[in-house]
Amino acid sequence: TVEFHLAERPEGWPTPDTFRRVERTLPELAEGEVRVLNRFVSVDPYMRGRMNLGESYVAPFELDAALTGGAVGHVVASNAPELPVGTAVSHDQGWRSVAQGPATTFRRAAEIPGVPLSTSLGILGMTGLTAFVGLRDIAEIKPGDVVFISGAAGAVGTAAGQIARLMGASRVVGSAGTDAKVAMLTERYGYDAAFNYNDAAPVAEQLAEVAPDGIDVYFDNVGGEHLEAAIGALHRGGRIALCGASSEYNVTTPKVGPRNMSRLITQSLRLRGFTIGEHVAVAPEFAKAMGEWFAAGKIAYDETVVEGIENTPQAFIDLLAGKNVGKMVVRVDA
Ligand code: NDP
Repeated sequence: TVEFHLAERPEGWPTPDTFRRVERTLPELAEGEVRVLNRFVSVDPYMRGRMNLGESYVAPFELDAALTGGAVGHVVASNAPELPVGTAVSHDQGWRSVAQGPATTFRRAAEIPGVPLSTSLGILGMTGLTAFVGLRDIAEIKPGDVVFISGAAGAVGTAAGQIARLMGASRVVGSAGTDAKVAMLTERYGYDAAFNYNDAAPVAEQLAEVAPDGIDVYFDNVGGEHLEAAIGALHRGGRIALCGASSEYNVTTPKVGPRNMSRLITQSLRLRGFTIGEHVAVAPEFAKAMGEWFAAGKIAYDETVVEGIENTPQAFIDLLAGKNVGKMVVRVDA
């Protein structure tokens, strides 16, 4: 197998030197084990946090050991009758071409005709579930709400815009980092209006233009200036789901937080963070709802597919730099 190890802990932005490519011969399969040829491996922003030492909700990656993450593939050798050769599975041994281990560490992945297997890493998998849980259970979205979503053109954001609409939002607005992404938000992802946060005008001003009457829900993927702008725009009783902080992952000195936190008091606002690992029990309900929306043609999705396992480190770096639309995945056997 070809796999990637963490060669050094990045300070600020990761570089190609952060990673080391290693070729390894896998041992014979033990009883109860399977070998899986990965078809797609996932790169996700949370992996940046795991490259640092320090307290977090998942343990830091170890130096000089293979990185891990979401992946999906097919069983190519099996010593476990429950997962015969040919079964599609998703699992946590990403960043490598071949995964091997006890069958219990692999989950069957749905194979839908005409739909790429990679969707089980994105719209039908972790990032779709994150959008669903963040809106429904964390922000407690209600019909008629005006919803603002940052990181709107990414994997979570493209799902969240459409789910917010399907859950009854009266207006959905979003932000992203390029004009091309902003155009896609309204043309493809069900957003009523959107803006480019890299434009000169402050985020608060741009938000006021697309949501002149204020907002009820903010789904935060980026933190920083966006969070302050959203706090300033929320109606009384408004709710924030804190999902991610993409604007802060590669800065070496943390920025000062929002300056308007007292609005949480005066306007009875609620700010609630979450990690999707604590909400996996929702997965079957999400699969049912998303399966129905998906089959009814109500969900658009895009993937940015990087070809070749060799390009996994660059795919990860490019993800952090915003080169993706929708879910960023690596196709292993380019
Ligand atoms: P994305 O597909 O959104 O990719 C990351 C995006 O971050 C880039 O495309 C880029 O888009 C944006 N970005 C980069 N730098 C900045 C910046 N300085 N300011 C604003 N945006 C920036 O990733 P995901 O959809 O997978 O994840 C979105 C967020 O949700 C992340 O913060 C992630 O950590 C979080 N997350 C949290 C989970 C949880 O359990 N709480 C689970 C899954 C994801 P652009 O071009 O628009 O800048």
